[in-house]
Amino acid sequence: MSYICHKIVSKRKNMKKVLIGLAAVFAGAHLFSCTQAQKSENPEREYVIVVHGGAGAMKGLENDAEKSAQYYAALDSALTIGDAILARGGEGPEAVIAVINYFEGNPLFNAGVGATCTIDGEFELDAAIMEGHDLSAGSVAGVKYIKNPINAAYAVKEKTEHVMLAGEGADQFAREHGLEMVEDNQYFATPKTMEWIEKVKKESKKNGTVGCVVLDKKGNLTAGTSTGGRFKKQWGRVGDAPVIGAGTYADNEGCAVSCTGHGEYYIRHVVAYNLSTRVKKLGQPIAEAADEIIFGELNSEEGNGGLIAVDYKGNIAMPFNSGGMHRGYLYKEKGKDTVTKAVGIGKEMKVLSE
Ligand code: ASP
Repeated sequence: MSYICHKIVSKRKNMKKVLIGLAAVFAGAHLFSCTQAQKSENPEREYVIVVHGGAGAMKGLENDAEKSAQYYAALDSALTIGDAILARGGEGPEAVIAVINYFEGNPLFNAGVGATCTIDGEFELDAAIMEGHDLSAGSVAGVKYIKNPINAAYAVKEKTEHVMLAGEGADQFAREHGLEMVEDNQYFATPKTMEWIEKVKKESKKNGTVGCVVLDKKGNLTAGTSTGGRFKKQWGRVGDAPVIGAGTYADNEGCAVSCTGHGEYYIRHVVAYNLSTRVKKLGQPIAEAADEIIFGELNSEEGNGGLIAVDYKGNIAMPFNSGGMHRGYLYKEKGKDTVTKAVGIGKEMKVLSE
């Protein structure tokens, strides 16, 4: 068969596959939308914020009262920062950026100060933000001198016609747009992180990517993620966090998602878009869809990690297939004065207020 004939035949075969696929999606959509209406018991929520501070083995952390208290306090502070903004009617991007800025300044986490480094000991940071009402998105990858990469991601979204800027060009763009820069790349290395990195170099890696997803009072969804990437990564390596659809995604008709874990697998499984599209097209409940991806498509060997997500009704999912995931949520139900807030590292969530 000639090359062209072969292409036409395989094109037809593909078309057939697409049609069968679409039929299955629509049949599935009908089926799921019937069952979803019965399953969706959550009352509508006025606003919701969910945060993560990375997934990983977390060996012993839960049993180290002092250390885990530091993480609980940090997650609580992040939720409180987001709550203050959302309660006064602030919009999703403002809340997501403020929360991630807080994490980027906190050396406990693998984003901004405290980020993990490349195999050469340099810091190359990734971040992304996306809004669900118009699918607008911005991201930066491999930046070395931007103090708060999430701000640069937002600037890319707002000020360019592009979605993603990488490396030197992204640093230069941020400088030209007056974002806060650091002179020395080693600014991101705290003595504590370097000491920690030295200590665990042989057997482990630093986790602690940060993310935030929000449903604001207007009913809009926003997702953001910021990270130093994988420990001892090759320089130039880009993970899932800044790849729209892999580590970060938001669609008002689906959900807002931020991922953490072994980025290469999250890219291959297009995890964030995968989840949002299951919710949007199949009407699959967010928690069920998230579980299928994290425990079915990914697992602790191939795609170790987790995700946080919120849909347009305020339903939340926070699955992880790793030993633990720093995470927290806060929501306000319509007609109530109080907020519900909880944080967790291992399986159990610690309820802070109800
Ligand atoms: N997903 C991040 C990356 O692969 C790392 C992490 O979340 O721990 O760059």
